[in-house]
Amino acid sequence: MLTVEASPGSVERRLAAGELSCPCCAGTLAGWGHARERSLRGPGGKLIRLRPRRARCRSCRVTHVLLAVFALARRADTAEVIGVALTAAARGAGFRSAAAGLGVPASTVRGWLRRFARRAGAVRAFFTALLAAAGPDPVMPAAAGSPVADAVAAIAGAASAVAARWPQLGEALVWQAASAASGGLLLAPGWPAGGRNTS
Ligand SMILES: [Zn+2]
Repeated sequence: MLTVEASPGSVERRLAAGELSCPCCAGTLAGWGHARERSLRGPGGKLIRLRPRRARCRSCRVTHVLLAVFALARRADTAEVIGVALTAAARGAGFRSAAAGLGVPASTVRGWLRRFARRAGAVRAFFTALLAAAGPDPVMPAAAGSPVADAVAAIAGAASAVAARWPQLGEALVWQAASAASGGLLLAPGWPAGGRNTS
């Protein structure tokens, strides 16, 4: 899996130009059909139909799904919607009030918050390292009062750094940046690996 920009036209142009690299071996990726169509719930419960492009590496021949940056692996909601819930939790909201107004079942939001809370320290370390690596004089976020709030503050702090690092994202939204930086794995099992090897 590889995180790419939201615009399918731009992804096609870069595939055709050989500008996308294999995450396994850095070989050149070529178009290789499409993955199964799926629907994502965007802001306001709006359904977004998505048929992710697949690509195959010309060197190692491994195929990869090109996941748009607003999506997260194995999640039915966009990174932005999940980010709104995590931001509410960072401000002290419980899962029911974080779910209110999102059009997402409270049990789903509870699952996101639990998963994020379990890895909050590792997520904070990952994004803090990203922020620290980004510029000569990065502004480190102050302690925000809880592990979840600290992690969300680190993500927000790293977002502008990520925009500079993945210029194809254009004006990166905070949670799209978080999706890109995690390779779409923000809430996936095993990410970030150990939480320490972030260089
Ligand atoms: Zn390869």
